Amino acid sequence: MIWNRLRGHAAQIDMFRRAVQRNRTAHAYSFIGPSGIGKRQVAAMIAQCLFCTKFDDTELDACGTCAACRQVAAGTHPDLLTIGCPTGKRELPLELVAGPPERRGREGLCHDLSLKPMSADRRIAIIDDAQTLNEESANALLKTLEEPPPGSILFLISSGADALLPTIRSRCQPVHFSPLAEDDVAELILELGWESDRDQARAAAQLSEGSLETARELLDPGLRKLREELHQRLGAIAKDPVGTADALVELVESQASDTPGQRQTAGWMLAFAVRQFRDLLERMGRGEAGNDAQVEQLLLRCDGDPKVAADRLVASIDRVVQADFHLQQMMPVPLCLAGLCDDLSRIQRGLLPLAG
Ligand SMILES: [Zn+2]
Repeated sequence: MIWNRLRGHAAQIDMFRRAVQRNRTAHAYSFIGPSGIGKRQVAAMIAQCLFCTKFDDTELDACGTCAACRQVAAGTHPDLLTIGCPTGKRELPLELVAGPPERRGREGLCHDLSLKPMSADRRIAIIDDAQTLNEESANALLKTLEEPPPGSILFLISSGADALLPTIRSRCQPVHFSPLAEDDVAELILELGWESDRDQARAAAQLSEGSLETARELLDPGLRKLREELHQRLGAIAKDPVGTADALVELVESQASDTPGQRQTAGWMLAFAVRQFRDLLERMGRGEAGNDAQVEQLLLRCDGDPKVAADRLVASIDRVVQADFHLQQMMPVPLCLAGLCDDLSRIQRGLLPLAG
């Protein structure tokens, strides 16, 4: 009943349902997968199913209307404990796990989980951003993981298996989550009202790598402007690489004033460039590119040979990926973009040996 609200992750939910039916639920699970795909939501929905008074646990479903369901939805269910890394912090504070110094062990998630349930027949804890647990917090959690209170279930939500400390990782049953399908992301964007234009929603979904969180960032007006201006600029790159590089640097600087922000913006720009080259390649492959000015120019420079044009697009994509690597290696943004534009111009004019 409630699961039709969720997109994707059917296999993971089935796995959990079977575990409940066999009375074989683990005491701790690590939900692992990219951020923004719904891992925490799945954990909260499982908790709702186990707390719902209208359904038996083995059905793993929830009515959405009983008092327990409403409390879970409102975040006020007394037996559902949730902590996560506070906004702006890099680590999940120890006091959320084990209480403040003066009340260590007498407050915090581990203590609360050990108390008798108030309205349900068990307590459930969700630790979001579990990859931000530092060693101290992880140690505080170990005893709970080793001797869990009867019936309790802990969900540790993490953006990567390697991101969890080994001591924690080895004590949780891992459940791996995949990115959402592009169609699901596009539909969710429309459903959530983040965007009403279907094409814009689809464009953001295509670039989101299956993450709703990334899609939301992509719908930011600044990034949208970046994507559209980049599209204009890329057409001029073969003729004027220096002018294009200058314009792109200016564009990046207009979006962010500090170096980390500019680096991030440049990263987005490179992701957009890869997508645009890929789009051209796909449209050429489908023979749909006849009226596209960029493809027309590209073909003109290749004596109308679509195979050569496709090779040059593939080489362009490789070069952009390389630029992204340089960016991650802390190459200054202007240097990175100048080198990229120069090489892209040469690739498109057939002056640079192509990869492979
Ligand atoms: Zn219910």
